[in-house]
Amino acid sequence: MEIYKHLLLRFNGVTQFNIITISSTTLEISFKKFVGCSTTVPIRLFSKLASAMKTIKEKYLTYNDKKVHIRIKMDEEDDRYLIRISGINKIPPGKIFNLFGLILYYYLKFISGIKPSKSVYGRELTEKWKIEEKYTRDELRSTPKNIVVTNFVMPCYICGKETDLILHWQFLFTREKRYIDIQTRVCEKHRSEVL
Ligand SMILES: [Zn+2]
Repeated sequence: MEIYKHLLLRFNGVTQFNIITISSTTLEISFKKFVGCSTTVPIRLFSKLASAMKTIKEKYLTYNDKKVHIRIKMDEEDDRYLIRISGINKIPPGKIFNLFGLILYYYLKFISGIKPSKSVYGRELTEKWKIEEKYTRDELRSTPKNIVVTNFVMPCYICGKETDLILHWQFLFTREKRYIDIQTRVCEKHRSEVL
C-alpha cells in the first residue's frame, strides 16, 4: 500500500488539498460542500469512476481476485460528497494512478463551475499535475528491476494480456526514507514498465 501513499503524496502536493486520501485498503475522494456548489459534478465523477472500475476488474483481475471485495460507493454527507473505492490492494496501482487526472478535472469543475480549461487556475493546476505525473512515472521507471518467470499466468498490469512474467522492483518511499519492494505483472512488451 506504500506505493499508493507515495502516489497520493505527489497528487496532494500539487493540489494542496487532500481531495484523495487512503484509509487501510480504501481510497477516499472527498469534495467539500460550499454554498451553491454543484450536485451533479460529484455524481458525474462517480459514474465515470464506476465504469472505469468495471473495466479494470474485467481486464486486470483474476477470478479469485474478483471474489474479494472491490467496491465503489458514493455517500452524501452534511458537509461533503464522498466516493469510496475499497479493496484497492487488489488493483494494479498504475490503473488508479491513471484516474487521478480525471478526479482533478472533476474537482476543478466542482469548485469553479466551469471546465478547467476555461479558467487560469484550472489550466495551471492541470498543467502542474501533468508535469508531476510524468516526473513520478519516470522516477519510478528508473529504479533497479529484476524479471522473474513464474509457473502461472495472470494479466499484465499494463495491458491485461496474460503473462507468466513478474517484475520485481523497488522505490524509495520518501516519507519513511526506506525502500519498498514491489511486484508488477508484465508481458514481454511491457517488461520495463512499473505502473
Ligand atoms: Zn502488457
